[in-house]
Amino acid sequence: MGNGAPLPSNETQRLAEVARFCTVDSEQDEVFDKIVAMTSAYFNVPITLISIVEEHRQWFRARVGLEATQTPREVSFCAYTTLDNLMLEVLDATLDPRFKDNALVTGAPHICYYAGAPLITADGFTLGTLCIIDRVPRAPMSERDAAMLKNFAELVMMHIGGVRSRNFVDQPTGLFNRQRFEEDIRQALQLNGACQIYAVDVISPAFLNDIVKALGYSFAAELIQAIKSRLQTLLPQDCLLYKISPTRFGFILNDGQPAAQICARILYHFKHPVQCQGIPIPMQVGIGVLPLLESEEPGRDWLRLVISAADEARDRQLGWSLYEPQFDAAQRRALMLLSSLPEAIDADTQFSLVYQPKINLSSGCSDCVEALLRWHHPLLGSISPAEFIPLAEKTALMPAIGLWVLNAIVQQAIAWKARGVCLRIAMNITVSDLENAGFVDAMLHEIRIHDLDPEDFELEFTESMLITKPEEVIRQLQRVRQRGIEVAVDDFGTGYSNWAYLKELPANTVKLDQSLISGLSTNQNDKHLVRTLIGLAKGLGYCVVAEGVENQETLDLLIQWGCSQAQGYLIARPMSPAALEDWIEQGRYTALVKP
Ligand code: C2E
Ligand code: MG
Ligand code: MG
Repeated sequence: MGNGAPLPSNETQRLAEVARFCTVDSEQDEVFDKIVAMTSAYFNVPITLISIVEEHRQWFRARVGLEATQTPREVSFCAYTTLDNLMLEVLDATLDPRFKDNALVTGAPHICYYAGAPLITADGFTLGTLCIIDRVPRAPMSERDAAMLKNFAELVMMHIGGVRSRNFVDQPTGLFNRQRFEEDIRQALQLNGACQIYAVDVISPAFLNDIVKALGYSFAAELIQAIKSRLQTLLPQDCLLYKISPTRFGFILNDGQPAAQICARILYHFKHPVQCQGIPIPMQVGIGVLPLLESEEPGRDWLRLVISAADEARDRQLGWSLYEPQFDAAQRRALMLLSSLPEAIDADTQFSLVYQPKINLSSGCSDCVEALLRWHHPLLGSISPAEFIPLAEKTALMPAIGLWVLNAIVQQAIAWKARGVCLRIAMNITVSDLENAGFVDAMLHEIRIHDLDPEDFELEFTESMLITKPEEVIRQLQRVRQRGIEVAVDDFGTGYSNWAYLKELPANTVKLDQSLISGLSTNQNDKHLVRTLIGLAKGLGYCVVAEGVENQETLDLLIQWGCSQAQGYLIARPMSPAALEDWIEQGRYTALVKP
């Protein structure tokens, strides 16, 4: 067996065409089956194949008379047709030096006669052949028969093209889909050397999901249809609209067309809600624009880049935004952090906890500390939890982080208890810790088996955690409160602080957000607000903690207004357990409270 047919000079592009036209081992197809049956009958041969020649193998899109579904490329007769796009006829393979030692000739299926007509794309690439095989030698084909085999091969090619176009259509809207969008971008670059691609985010995926849940799938489909119709009227003539994801459309324009003008027109018309079955649905449009040049790296993920620009435009309410490389840098960093997290959770050398004390403003004592997570990444150095926790929250990694922190505070509590240090440890939690009973079960179990006091633990959660599954979150918080664990609402006064909700929450502490506290010594409005918040929260029986206290003036105001506790750099920065013990021993912080 030799090395088979030499490679054609355009092999790289040819393989790319094969990948585009013939999705690997696609399902059985009745039309292809009929064509091979007809060809076999017409030529009266035992074997007929539609063979697709890939890098290392040929596989059969349809076949009669052969068991095998593929063979290595090195024994492929059909591979020879890719060299010159011409039909190959071998009258007696046992006499042909190219094939006489071929395993398909010397062994099953014992090919003797072979004729293959190439399957050629419009761009002139041969994907494979329609071939007929006999086990005995034959005389050369007549011109009429050769034309017939070519005709059958053309039929195959037409059907391959048809299947491919069907794969390019987004069924509900009838628009071309993402695959076709990418294909057309490539073509626009080849033809014009440059182009601009646009992604239009019309509504958020979460909003579409809510619509499906509230009004049903067919309403959502009709809404998308209505959005499509409005968008189509706003595009320049001859510009195709594509549907590139459930909530996004795309289009391509020539380089030089004014992006600002086109975006302004779309944004203006989408200020009005879209009507669907008489119901006005408000749109949240963000448009991303990515200019491309012919010199673009072919592997670059254009779609991801333009979509990130559209997301940015919508999230920051910019209307539209040109792709900027820093979005990509941010995404790459996010990806790198997320992919390093599993190792960080397991390694036990990258994560650590620091502790920041809170002081009691009436007694001047410190009997409670907040545990704050630190991550030392082996390459990137120290990463703030404010950066990696929100990323991890979007993945399934968050519960493991919660359990890591839980285990670490339990170990710390055991160590402090053994040394007679009495400190309550507050832990920050996220919604994934309370979405089901797992975390609370683990916490209660740890406290029980180590014979620790539940009152020596506190959980800090933020109100944003109540957005998705409020009932379950509240149920889990109630369980911990019932066992005597303290519960604090963190970052209160930001977001949508809701007093009606607060009453329902099984919390006993409210932590006023540092953004309110940092403005206290200068901002008159913050003064009124914080004073009122302290009064209201204390009136409802909460312990009120001010976080982010950085100067004495602020601390004095808080004492004057009856705030219960304070935490911040003025008092102490987050520190290691050993540093914290020294700090407590020195006891200098009491001077801050008692003039
Ligand atoms: P947070 O729970 O509101 O924590 C307070 C943050 O403010 C901490 O930042 C703390 O170091 C910082 N801080 C304390 N005093 C001052 C001050 O006087 N001035 C200023 N400017 N900042 C002060 P850190 O440690 O970077 O944590 C940021 C956020 O990350 C935390 O906000 C919390 O939401 C989250 N986080 C930290 N550790 C964990 C953890 O173990 N689990 C979870 N789920 N989240 C955590
Ligand atoms: Mg906190
Ligand atoms: Mg906070």
